[in-house]
Amino acid sequence: MKKNEATASLTIREFLQQFSTDEACLEHLFSVRFGQGHVCPKCERKSNWFRFKAERAYACQWCGHHLHPTVGTPFEDSRTPLQLWFYAIYLFTTSRHGVPAKELERQLGVTYKTAWRMADLIRKHMEFVDGEFPLFGEVEVDETYVGVALMEFADVARRIKRLSLSCCNVRDR
Ligand SMILES: [Zn+2]
Repeated sequence: MKKNEATASLTIREFLQQFSTDEACLEHLFSVRFGQGHVCPKCERKSNWFRFKAERAYACQWCGHHLHPTVGTPFEDSRTPLQLWFYAIYLFTTSRHGVPAKELERQLGVTYKTAWRMADLIRKHMEFVDGEFPLFGEVEVDETYVGVALMEFADVARRIKRLSLSCCNVRDR
C-alpha cells in the first residue's frame, strides 16, 4: 500500500473535528469512563449527567454529586490542555517512527520538559495497551506497510479510547 496524502489528511481532519476543543475531549473522557446512565456512586440511582461548567465535572440529575472524568488519569494534574494531550496521543498512534519529545515541543508549542513528560507517559501507556495482546511465535512483518499513518479514524479513536481507559486503570490501582 502506498502512502496516500489525501487519506492521511482526511484522517487528521476527522480527528480534529471530533476533538476540536477541550470540552469535546472532556466529553469523550466522560463517555468512555462513565457515560449517560452511569449509576451515581452517592445516591445509587441511574442518572443523566449534566456538565457542571465551573469545574471539569458532570453532575448527577438526582443529588448533584459530581463526577470528574480526568481524576485518576495523567490529565488530572496537568495544566496542559486536554486537546493537546489528545493530539499528542494521536501523533503517537499515527506515527510510523515514534514521536520524539522535541517534535512534540515543536508541534504543541509547549516546553521541552512538558513535551518530554507527555511523551514518557504516553509511551508507557501505549506499552501497557499494546502489551495486552503480545505477539508470539514466528511473526512475519509485511515490509510495505506496518505503520498506522493510514489507519482508519475509527481505529485511532478506539486506540485513544483504550489509552484513556488504560490511563485510568493504571492510576486507579
Ligand atoms: Zn446522585
